[in-house]
Amino acid sequence: MPLHNYYESLELSSQCSAEDIKESYRRLAKQLHPDKSNSSSNSPADPSRFLLISEAYRVLSNPEIRKEYDKCRRDAEKAHLIYAEVDLSDLVYLEDFATFSYPCRCGDSYCLSQDRLKTTRTPQLVIPCSSCSFVLLVNRNGE
Ligand SMILES: [Zn+2]
Repeated sequence: MPLHNYYESLELSSQCSAEDIKESYRRLAKQLHPDKSNSSSNSPADPSRFLLISEAYRVLSNPEIRKEYDKCRRDAEKAHLIYAEVDLSDLVYLEDFATFSYPCRCGDSYCLSQDRLKTTRTPQLVIPCSSCSFVLLVNRNGE
């Protein structure tokens, strides 16, 4: 499952505290920030690595998003419960809720918020159904 392990990116375990996340991010950001690669140091910072830890921090430092992400990881482990694999364009955008929606066979739906779409850079997202245990794989190609 191409789901980034943000805990790994921040060199943390999934049981870490909010304080651990902050400390780890600060430490790594200092090491990896592109602006830090000044003339005195010949080791160029890795921008993609920096982007990844920034993304990891943005997700894990927000308790709401972290919860969602943890759930997403658990859902991804249940790969046999994949209902369908679709493109983002197959989802219906509900403007009032700023959410993309896709019907599940249980009668409920898969909901992907605009916020989550913004905070996630992975090419594929795992969306759990609101009611049952199926997940929807959404490819965001060409969004
Ligand atoms: Zn369902």
